[in-house]
Amino acid sequence: MPSHFSITHRSGIGKARTGVLKTPHGEIRTPAFMPIATVGAVRHVAPHELRSAGAQIILGNTYHLMLRPGTELLAQRGGLRKFMGWDGPILTDSGGFQIFSLGAKLARSGHGSLVDIDEEGVTFRSHIDGSLHRLTPETAVDHQVRIGSDIAMVLDVCPPQPCTDRSLDAAMERTTRWAERSLMHAEATMSRDKMLMFGIVQGGSDLERRSAHASAICALPFDGFAIGGVAVGEDREAVRKTIAHTGPLLPEDHPRYLMGLGTPGDIVHAVQHGIDLFDCVLPTRAGRHGTAYVWRDIEAFPQGLWYDTVAIARAEFQHDDAPLDSFCSCMACEKFSRAYLRHLTVIDEALGKRLMSIHNLTFYLRLMDRIRGSIARDEFFSS
Ligand SMILES: [Zn+2]
Repeated sequence: MPSHFSITHRSGIGKARTGVLKTPHGEIRTPAFMPIATVGAVRHVAPHELRSAGAQIILGNTYHLMLRPGTELLAQRGGLRKFMGWDGPILTDSGGFQIFSLGAKLARSGHGSLVDIDEEGVTFRSHIDGSLHRLTPETAVDHQVRIGSDIAMVLDVCPPQPCTDRSLDAAMERTTRWAERSLMHAEATMSRDKMLMFGIVQGGSDLERRSAHASAICALPFDGFAIGGVAVGEDREAVRKTIAHTGPLLPEDHPRYLMGLGTPGDIVHAVQHGIDLFDCVLPTRAGRHGTAYVWRDIEAFPQGLWYDTVAIARAEFQHDDAPLDSFCSCMACEKFSRAYLRHLTVIDEALGKRLMSIHNLTFYLRLMDRIRGSIARDEFFSS
């Protein structure tokens, strides 16, 4: 078993497990959810509020940070942790997913797009000012060292879905070669002493391809393994099948990370299939748009219908003095009524976005705490 990850309990039911992941800047109890600080901030939420909500680790994005403020500046300022005042670990995405998805978005909007991929790396235009940039597996590692990442993701190729079998195979094969190059470069530059490195399994929703790519990536000496390229256009059933199939293929004694997913139900489902780490824009994005995740009955978790979503702008909340979530003690639920949160949301006030984001993050992080407790007690999970 690797020294940075230990499994503390294996569920008697399913493949769920609890563990402790050691990073250079702190330990993480898993399963864990990572709030997304794409550009060096979780939108509307300060670092000390993330801590109060129960965050153990946050996620930064290499693509965005290399464009603004630039990773040289971050290194000069003592790394992203010091720069943004966050005292815990940071995982950084390599930038591959953003390059491909923002490139496709620019092309669709008629602004012209350049995402030019070759064996060495990828050349792309900034979504901010159209300037040209280049990222290779090696420079993606260097950027993440300068950011001061605790867990670095390798640069991978994310083909848009649906795509042909031929382009899916080419993306998987190139992702494997890039994973090997990333590790070699990290060894040569002694970057592995500074951060953990995770490999990424691709393969779309084709289960045979997922198996083949999992065996190629998991043969490499990474510190953890991720499932990438899910929820990029396929239906929910296909996503769940991919996770149920791929999760158990990742090495049992290493941390497993499901990239970019999902709803509370999706998370519970993935935990049942042995996933340890999660990130998703959903709690903050939904919060900014007036949707809250609330406990239906926290004591009932994980049985039955344990959560609801509330669209707070609805007229029915106009005179509702109750808190947003009676099981929650976050700032939004402790101090304000549904009627007031509705008002803030209807007038598009920044305080409303902030309170709804804080609440949803608190909900997600408490969910993870409940999940860890349920695994420890060998309780059955319902998703
Ligand atoms: Zn709350």
